Amino acid sequence: MADDLARQLTKVLSTQTEALVAGVTEALTAQLGPVMLNDHKKDQDAVSYRPAEGTARCEVCTNFLVSGKCKAVRGQIDPNYWCELYEPRMRLVERTSIPTISQEAVDGG
Ligand code: SF4
Repeated sequence: MADDLARQLTKVLSTQTEALVAGVTEALTAQLGPVMLNDHKKDQDAVSYRPAEGTARCEVCTNFLVSGKCKAVRGQIDPNYWCELYEPRMRLVERTSIPTISQEAVDGG
């Protein structure tokens, strides 16, 4: 009798666990699938990805990754190219308040 009860409980719990795992997997796939599949990224043609003509280039863009990839654009990225989504890394420095020492303070005044 105890064995039958244990078997029944195991079967019920197993079925409920499978249903729970399936539901969670489906919900996570719906929410994270686009991110995991890089669906948030743009195609190179859509952002006019092309050889850089000035100092603005992928190598100094906040979206550029050292692996030769981009956080915003699909495919392999050449560090000497750029696109419409270019965001210079220097802007991060410009937003930061860096304390300065006046010449008067240096001179002891
Ligand atoms: S310029 Fe465009 S392609 Fe290059 S790293 Fe930045 S966002 Fe990516």
